[in-house]
Amino acid sequence: MSKVAPVRAKTNSMRASSFFEKCERDTRAERARQAGLYVFFREIQSAQDPEITLGGRRMIMLGSNNYLGLTNDNRVKEASVAAIRKYGTGCAGSRWLNGTLDLHVELEERIASFMRRDAALTFATGFQVNLGVIACLVGKGDKVYLDRQDHACIIDGARLSFGEIRKFRHNDTDDLRRQISNDAATTKGRLVVVDGVFSMEGDIAPLPEIVAVAREFEAATMVDDAHGIGVLGENGRGTGEHFGLEDEVDLVMGTFSKSMASVGGFIVGDSPVIDYIRHNARTLIFSAAPPPASAAAALAALDIMESEPERRERLWENTRFFAEGLRSLGLDTGGSQTPVVPAIVGDNSTAATMVRRLQEEDVFVNCVYTPGVPPGRALLRMSLMATHTTAQLSRALDAIEKVGREVGLVRAVGV
Ligand code: PMP
Repeated sequence: MSKVAPVRAKTNSMRASSFFEKCERDTRAERARQAGLYVFFREIQSAQDPEITLGGRRMIMLGSNNYLGLTNDNRVKEASVAAIRKYGTGCAGSRWLNGTLDLHVELEERIASFMRRDAALTFATGFQVNLGVIACLVGKGDKVYLDRQDHACIIDGARLSFGEIRKFRHNDTDDLRRQISNDAATTKGRLVVVDGVFSMEGDIAPLPEIVAVAREFEAATMVDDAHGIGVLGENGRGTGEHFGLEDEVDLVMGTFSKSMASVGGFIVGDSPVIDYIRHNARTLIFSAAPPPASAAAALAALDIMESEPERRERLWENTRFFAEGLRSLGLDTGGSQTPVVPAIVGDNSTAATMVRRLQEEDVFVNCVYTPGVPPGRALLRMSLMATHTTAQLSRALDAIEKVGREVGLVRAVGV
């Protein structure tokens, strides 16, 4: 078992002011540590490959967003190293002032043409894309409509804006329509923002219906395709391509931290809109530019994404094999339609127990519980890579079956 983070000692500064009392009162993490059910911040001693090293042991990795298996690809690594040799390790400033490299511009041009959009803009993280873009576009008198299960950075971006937030029930376009029509008279502008692929349960937003409602009320649309880019659509252009309605979505956000084997994020859309964001998104203007190594890695990953579509095919073969394996054990994979495949196990402690036990069985999966998911829907979040072998996935399924039986979620055959 890997080391767990040490319990914090009381410090003088904590005692000197009542301000920090809430930190000492919040004992949730400490209680989980004591119960041996703490499954976060585990220290991995290797790359994000289909097998990793944790606590000195090799185990199958089912908790990484390295969908195309490129984070440890030699071509991507060499591109990163070459960029460090040429540009150094950082940009020492924001894109706005001294931090824009020819590499960033090349990456933006390549992303815009890959996504078949006018223009692209890259940020240091995907989180910063959503914060900066939503906050600068949604102004006073505007309303922003969010799916209840939208990613935290969409919600935070909306909170930072001067507009009003409305949340509609998960993937429920009737609720979206009801909320927009209730607001219709008083609203200046409307923006609907959804995840293309929801990151916890791997279900896909009903984009055709969302776009139809948005069009009816002249609302703009933005899709966060962090888990869709490289994965969905014949060419990996994401949820829009999957549904054949790329031209209908106004803005698409993506991240480099998943299929694209790096860190950073982008937004694509029409030139005037992207230029407005370039000059108004505070997370772009007041934060350092993506480091050269990261930009170069994303560029190299994009090359491979375009030239090796077989990786995506393999990812989907693995997804089908694994998801069917889980379902045949009687596990609840929720609405998953993508390489993010949960096993919904119910309460928090069952989820944590299973994650710990699976680690002992040399399988790494992620634990997601409330408030990350609605109460009673604690889950093991698993995700596939193109580079998993069938043998690795079969071994993982065997371990999941064993642990599932121990907690009574998987019944013995014939019972
Ligand atoms: N959107 C979604 C749906 C995500 O899952 C994530 C990352 N977990 C982000 C945005 C943020 O991206 P990044 O990791 O590049 O900050």
